[in-house]
Amino acid sequence: SDMTTGGGKGEKILVSVRVRPRNDKEKTRNDICDWECVNNTTIICNNNLPERSLFPSTYTFDKVFGFDSPTKQVYEDGAKEVALCVLEGINSSIFAYGQTSSGKTYTMSGITEFAMNDIFCYIQKHKEREFTLKFSAIEIYNEAVRDLLSGDNNQLRLLDDPELHQRGTVVEKLIEETLRDRTHLEELLSICETQRKIGETSLNETSSRSHQILRLTIESTGRQFSLESSRTLDASVCFVDLAGSERASQTLSAGARLKEGCHINRSTYSWNRHPQTKAVSFILKHSKGRNGGHIPYRDSKLTRILQNSLGGNARTAIICTMSPARSHVEQSRNTLLFATCAK
Ligand code: ADP
Ligand code: MG
Repeated sequence: SDMTTGGGKGEKILVSVRVRPRNDKEKTRNDICDWECVNNTTIICNNNLPERSLFPSTYTFDKVFGFDSPTKQVYEDGAKEVALCVLEGINSSIFAYGQTSSGKTYTMSGITEFAMNDIFCYIQKHKEREFTLKFSAIEIYNEAVRDLLSGDNNQLRLLDDPELHQRGTVVEKLIEETLRDRTHLEELLSICETQRKIGETSLNETSSRSHQILRLTIESTGRQFSLESSRTLDASVCFVDLAGSERASQTLSAGARLKEGCHINRSTYSWNRHPQTKAVSFILKHSKGRNGGHIPYRDSKLTRILQNSLGGNARTAIICTMSPARSHVEQSRNTLLFATCAK
């Protein structure tokens, strides 16, 4: 059986899969590698467990990265085009989706760094424009929003901007730092990392259950008088490290069948029951422009906050991360089924 999703350059949503190498624990307990990346768009499952026949063995995406692919390549082929849209005034967001310890944070932090670097290089080369960069960082845990730059644990409220069509929902009292230079950004990124770690220890593994959103807003105006080049551009790019998908997919393996699912081998899976995947599935539907009318953004803080990054001609990239080990085969399969639904 075959799962195929089309895709390519210029599409609104770019879906990739990254398989991490087995870790030491998996190697030590001889946890077999179940997955094989046969080319840069296809991954197959080699396990012969009895229930295997219920699921596709071959999955195709815009890009598939095996464990010999460095993050640089994942960035170049799976995120760069989408991230750099921000320089042309187009909103974009990059998501990492997958079970805990599959490599979301590892992948997203690398991608964020490469993207920021490209953005700074671009700005340096385009002296004819004046750029203003703003950076903010939040964590959403159990529907509580926290500022990763503030150093306190205060919960932030969401407000609807009076000029709704301009900015949509805003986070009240969120710190938005105007970046002076690269060093300043690096300082802020390291503050976020520290804050996230503090949260993790105090709230018992928060990071696996929290979403992190780093947002870079870029405004630019031409310095020349020609009308075309002096046009002001204003857009933002969000780097979203999603909560671990495992709790969400427990629902799935329990055999949830709801009307909004997607069809895979005559089985219907729903991604809409668990609040976290529910949020993601709205994001996906919206980025695909499929849902037409009503998008229940208000159902989750994540979708409310990202609302502005997903509408209109916004671009989205999703990197689904997974372990190749047999002990994780169900979670990995769920991740691939999710990724298939995302297209
Ligand atoms: P998650 O954020 O999904 O919970 P992490 O990004 O923290 O997972 O990754 C779990 C562990 O695996 C970390 O120690 C990380 O450094 C390592 N890791 C993840 N992906 C890779 C990779 N592609 N190559 C090497 N090590 C990786
Ligand atoms: Mg993580």
